[in-house]
Amino acid sequence: MSVQPTHNLSVEELDKQSVFHPFTALAQHMETGPRIMVSGEGVTLKDRQGREYIDALAGLWCVNIGYGRTEIAEAVDRQIRQLPYYHSFASMGTEPAAYVADRLKRMLPGDMGRVFFGLSGSDANDTQVKLVWYYNNLRGRPNKKKIIARKRGYHGVTVAAGSLTGLPVLHNAFDLPVDRILHTATPHYYWNAEPGMSEEEFSRSCAEELDALIEREGPDTVAAFIAEPVMGAGGVIVPPKGYFEEVQKVLRKHDVLLIADEVICGFGRLGRMFGSQVFDIEPDMVTIAKGITSGYVPLSASVVSEPMWQVIMEGSKELGVFGHGYTYTAHPVSCAAAVANLDIIEAEKLDQRAAETGRYMQELLRETFEGEPMIAEVRGVGLIAAVELVPDPAVKKPFDPSLKVAGRIAAKALDHGLITRALPNGDSLAFSPPLVISRDEIAQCVERLARSIAEIR
Ligand code: PLP
Repeated sequence: MSVQPTHNLSVEELDKQSVFHPFTALAQHMETGPRIMVSGEGVTLKDRQGREYIDALAGLWCVNIGYGRTEIAEAVDRQIRQLPYYHSFASMGTEPAAYVADRLKRMLPGDMGRVFFGLSGSDANDTQVKLVWYYNNLRGRPNKKKIIARKRGYHGVTVAAGSLTGLPVLHNAFDLPVDRILHTATPHYYWNAEPGMSEEEFSRSCAEELDALIEREGPDTVAAFIAEPVMGAGGVIVPPKGYFEEVQKVLRKHDVLLIADEVICGFGRLGRMFGSQVFDIEPDMVTIAKGITSGYVPLSASVVSEPMWQVIMEGSKELGVFGHGYTYTAHPVSCAAAVANLDIIEAEKLDQRAAETGRYMQELLRETFEGEPMIAEVRGVGLIAAVELVPDPAVKKPFDPSLKVAGRIAAKALDHGLITRALPNGDSLAFSPPLVISRDEIAQCVERLARSIAEIR
């Protein structure tokens, strides 16, 4: 496709003058302008100047099958020619939506009942909040509505999902979080465990903190707890040993639903199809997005367990029409892309491949960085990892945030043809590459990151 500049301005200038960029330092952007990507193949992206980058973040943790897969282009093309759009309101439907929902129900762990489609992880989590409230209204528990998320958890940016997210930068100046959404401890062993505590003891202390919060609020006011199996955007925080076992005991005791936010962990990233399978999480609700289409077109889903579905379905006899849904719920083009994407993931066993190459990536990152100056911690599982820096690892104290250490390293990495991501809070650099990445490409990523860190030391 040719991109047509107008007004004799460059694309960079058009962008700068017209595009409102998300998650961007806006004033600085007006000085530097954008970096415009034009094509991708496998794990490699090319920008308008012809520079190549290994995308070690798979876009935004989503391009699981890698760039340039024509199977998806063909599936999308076929669907657009046959039926570009039809909705699913009032019992209408399309073939691709039924195929994907059935596939998901069979892939997901546990006894899942129905799949409600959306377009982004944020709207899917907003739907989960509404479903929790709706469900408890139907069960005659109008006061059981509070939802507990975790500090540093990331669940999106819409009003409810942004409130679930536990990052100050998403709350400050946006008047979030809204009422009835609370936050409990981050299970980050490195930073938050007391000296001498084992991982198991730390997990118990996190569960005790959750228990105390529920008791303080009143168990009959707390409806649900939401967690990513591995926290992604908040720092790639892997749960310490026994964490979910202890947390699930607390939730069962207080009859609190568990929402697994699988938006990053789903579809192979941790070496199993879903993160819940890695940590023995038994969710009542599952949020999925990103890897369901590998980001090629937007699609997300809020999945509810069969017992929840039965309550919601029976309740509709009394309440009437289920009053929630988007024009683009179960968009047939997105669903057709999802079917083609799931075909690739399953045929190429990308979950197993992520387990194998993930093991190599984790080992290489640890060999390269652990014990080196300024390296606090290397953490991760499967094909997701982070390298965290502090001024002096012997003294556990973060860098002054104004130094923007991780941001400067990520900028150096770009110069060396590596896309990584500086995560908010602390100085961590994330790896979450396409699941098709080769060992050789992983080695190149690690070498480029090491070079970038060395340059800012
Ligand atoms: N949940 C998790 C775990 C995520 O990582 C994200 C996005 O990064 C979201 C929800 C929000 O998804 P979206 O950006 O598609 O709204």
